[in-house]
Amino acid sequence: MAQSTYEQVLARLKLAKEVLNLDEGTFAILCEPERALEVNMPVRMDDGSIKVFKGFRVQHNTSRGPGKGGVRYHVDVNYDEVKSLAAWMSFKCGVVDIPYGGAKGGVCVDVTKLSEGELERLTRCYTARIAPIIGPMKDVPAPDVNTSGKIMAWMVDTYSALTGQYQPGVVTGKPLSVNGSLGRNEATGRGITIAVRELLKRLNLDPKKVTVAVQGFGNVGGLGSILMSSLLGVKIVAISDITGTYYNPNGVNVKAAFEHSGKSPKKLLEGYTEPGMVKIDDPKAVLYTECDLLVPAALENQITAENAGKIKAKNIVEAANGPITAEADEILKKAGKVVVPDILANAGGVTVSYFEWVQNLYGYYWTVDEVNDRLDVKMSSAFDSCWEFAKEKNITMRIAAYCLAIKRIVDAMQARGIFL
Ligand code: NAD
Repeated sequence: MAQSTYEQVLARLKLAKEVLNLDEGTFAILCEPERALEVNMPVRMDDGSIKVFKGFRVQHNTSRGPGKGGVRYHVDVNYDEVKSLAAWMSFKCGVVDIPYGGAKGGVCVDVTKLSEGELERLTRCYTARIAPIIGPMKDVPAPDVNTSGKIMAWMVDTYSALTGQYQPGVVTGKPLSVNGSLGRNEATGRGITIAVRELLKRLNLDPKKVTVAVQGFGNVGGLGSILMSSLLGVKIVAISDITGTYYNPNGVNVKAAFEHSGKSPKKLLEGYTEPGMVKIDDPKAVLYTECDLLVPAALENQITAENAGKIKAKNIVEAANGPITAEADEILKKAGKVVVPDILANAGGVTVSYFEWVQNLYGYYWTVDEVNDRLDVKMSSAFDSCWEFAKEKNITMRIAAYCLAIKRIVDAMQARGIFL
């Protein structure tokens, strides 16, 4: 039977435990979240009926600071997934060395079936339900799949009303009008671009000769494609979303494609075409594109033991969280593929979220150049540490990233000691 997403987390944790020689007690602490809350939200629908939606907030480890992690609205949200995403957030904050623990939230809902009013009432009720465990010094949510700045603004408003004071630092990824940060919207895509730049540098590849396929064309895949092509000059030959794969060997005009999806009510590529483009109905076809670099930027568990052998790209930069399963890791390793792991490659979003929170706490705001320059410093330095540690220990970049993050978390746990 296929491993659950959390079993994938544990499989990687075990490999890191061996490299770091972790004792069983410390390992056991890392294997379970500190706190997990299940909530149920009754929402008055537009037709007057009441529907109940299930949600979660999970805090994996807060030894290094408040919990940090997005809120996902998706029909497939379940406890196993949220728990996995929370653990990845602990490791992600550890690898880029920002003073946060890991957390995540999610609501099981098909957002395409909700009106704007229903979405707002659901968000406000979810915020009220998780309010006892969130806060600027406790746990700071942010956007993830199908949540946006607008939803973050409703969360700020609800939390501020409940606590009787304006608290913009309770969430990040907010619009600028409610103390968001310049550069936050494209931060994950910019971080992906920095990871790709650093990888190509080390492989001695000229970006202008590099072809790329990108799975998923939302905030991360869409903006990441635009930044990779405009800042590095790579050629994006295939993009995709749930409506299919869009292939153009001459290079996709990713800006035009993003404008097209931006205008569609569900933000989809459906109907997009340009000279030389072929549409393939299978959304997964993008994964098997003949190219130098594959960037999965949709959801988890896309590259599995069943299809890993079909990947033609030599290099993979994981923009989504958990797109490759632990079993697929082994197949890709044997095939000599280089994988830049999610907890490093997509850490740009949480890094600029951290900058947003810092600005909220001291009430003084940076220019976009300050934000981007500081992001570049954090990402390039984390990439370098993972690359060098992987070389030194002869391990994959994923396990190197896990080790560096876990070492920082364990140092904090040991310094603080076990309570009681
Ligand atoms: P999004 O909702 O903006 O976009 C998701 C995209 O993936 C959409 O284009 C959707 O159509 C596509 N998609 C979904 N299922 C697909 C499938 N089976 N095949 C092909 N395409 C599919 O979400 P996002 O914010 O871009 O997040 C994408 C991934 O990146 C998620 O794993 C998320 O956890 C991760 N991530 C996001 C951020 C952030 O700042 N937004 C930060 C770090 C990691």
